[in-house]
Amino acid sequence: MKIKIAGKAGFCYGVRKAVELAEKAAGENKKPIYTAGPLIHNQQEVRRLSGLGVKVLSSVENIGSGTIVIRTHGLPKKTMLKLRRKALTVIDATCPFVKRVQHLVEKLSKDGYNIIVIGEKNHPEVVGLVSYSSKPVVVVNTEEGVKRLALPPGASVAIVSQTTQSSEKFNKLVSLIRKKYRTAKIYNTICNASNERQKAAASLAGKVDVMLVIGGKNSGNTARLNDICRKRVKTYHIESARDIKESWVEKNMTIGITAGASTPEWIINEVVAYLSRNALSAK
Ligand code: SF4
Repeated sequence: MKIKIAGKAGFCYGVRKAVELAEKAAGENKKPIYTAGPLIHNQQEVRRLSGLGVKVLSSVENIGSGTIVIRTHGLPKKTMLKLRRKALTVIDATCPFVKRVQHLVEKLSKDGYNIIVIGEKNHPEVVGLVSYSSKPVVVVNTEEGVKRLALPPGASVAIVSQTTQSSEKFNKLVSLIRKKYRTAKIYNTICNASNERQKAAASLAGKVDVMLVIGGKNSGNTARLNDICRKRVKTYHIESARDIKESWVEKNMTIGITAGASTPEWIINEVVAYLSRNALSAK
């Protein structure tokens, strides 16, 4: 059995920084330390941080004191303002790439554009992005969604993307939107980390017998890697080594591994170690 890991896999810049800030806060700052929602979409890593004293809040409404770490996806504008007015230490770990899109949405809406976000309506990043617009924003994620767009013909339209969308889908939906709104301005705001992981996963998936995509079941960027790989080869989305079934792997196989931007290295290492241990006993 051969094991190959995609050239780019696992923690991205934004997630690594957020985890480091949370760890530092746990060591130095006023307790209790909270995060607004899970810091990243990886329950194993969130559990590890909880062991250091970093607790997840489902709602930030009633928090009165302590330290709060803002996750990589950011928070709605009004929520951020409310938190900053409280007697709290606010550590902003919003990824700079997400911040850039928040500011872009704010500016485009001020300039009078009708903004279309390509992404998942209920994803925390998208909920945050939408909050930065002074006008209603439309979120589309499918071709059907594009068909339903009801902005008046000739409207000034600007398109941005959730940072972790797949380029394939973004390009497809943009070309459809442009058939309806020919002058639409396009801002491809997919971050480099997502692009690089998607390209590396697609390339590896074309060279192996099976792909394992490691990452949280609630992680959007991991879901995208899974979609990309399963179009090319038999693919399994796992959260940890414990999810691997013996029947998936055979002795002569080459197994490819990729991992979402919120998957820590220690989980990737555990999967590799598990496969290596079981390589000899595989059929
Ligand atoms: S995937 Fe991109 S936008 Fe999201 S945290 Fe990582 S670097 Fe930032």
